[in-house]
Amino acid sequence: MRKKIVAANWKMNLSLEEGKSLVEAIVAGLPELNEMRQVVIAPSFVHLTQTASQLDEYDHVQVAAQNCATESSGAYTGEVSAAMLQSAGVHTVIIGHSERREYFHEADDQLLKKIHQALNNNMQVIFCCGEPLPVRDAGKENEYVAGQIEATLFQLTDDQMKHIVVAYEPIWAIGTGRTASAQQAQAMHAHIRSVLERKFGADTAQRTPILYGGSCNAQNAVELFACGDVDGGLIGGASLKADAFLTIINAMLQS
Ligand code: PEP
Repeated sequence: MRKKIVAANWKMNLSLEEGKSLVEAIVAGLPELNEMRQVVIAPSFVHLTQTASQLDEYDHVQVAAQNCATESSGAYTGEVSAAMLQSAGVHTVIIGHSERREYFHEADDQLLKKIHQALNNNMQVIFCCGEPLPVRDAGKENEYVAGQIEATLFQLTDDQMKHIVVAYEPIWAIGTGRTASAQQAQAMHAHIRSVLERKFGADTAQRTPILYGGSCNAQNAVELFACGDVDGGLIGGASLKADAFLTIINAMLQS
């Protein structure tokens, strides 16, 4: 049985007070989770200690950061190190989100450094990959996504891969209201698993959770999560409303 996860990416949204209320509403409606069915919440850096203390008693709801520094410590004004995050109660770091790649020009070598920082500080990584629309239109999405994985995850050991969750997020579906169809999601997730198998073997490929992200919401989550290789979701917009997010969590539990 593979671990399934629903992860909230709040991006640059919510005041401290709004974040607190949202977490209160989520935990008030939370269904029973376990080792293999987990929830992750990734607020901004500012919220992390508050969110971590609110979730302290919930063993299967983890706090994630949306980014970490490439370096361990030192004169890097504005950066937050993986060790700092770990000390703040952070369990997971999202690395390689398309908004970081596009707006902050994060390239594969930097992403790999960040992955190492997170892993060296005993945190899990949600590694995002996904193609832009012109690549999909040209029918080159499989090789594009394989290239993103080869440049980063292929540099890890089998042991390190135990702490990696992959999130497939087609850029054309993020925040656009345009979702990949269940067939498109399943085909890409199966492809990603075959790419992982080529390098790490079947055990690692079968064990690694692959989440779908891109306008996943309370209406389409059941269909997406029913796909055999879709192990949950990374949720942006719909994670900012407790009702929608709880519906998506329940969809993961039913799948
Ligand atoms: C995301 O940013 O990770 C995401 C999937 O956003 P949305 O759900 O809003 O498309």
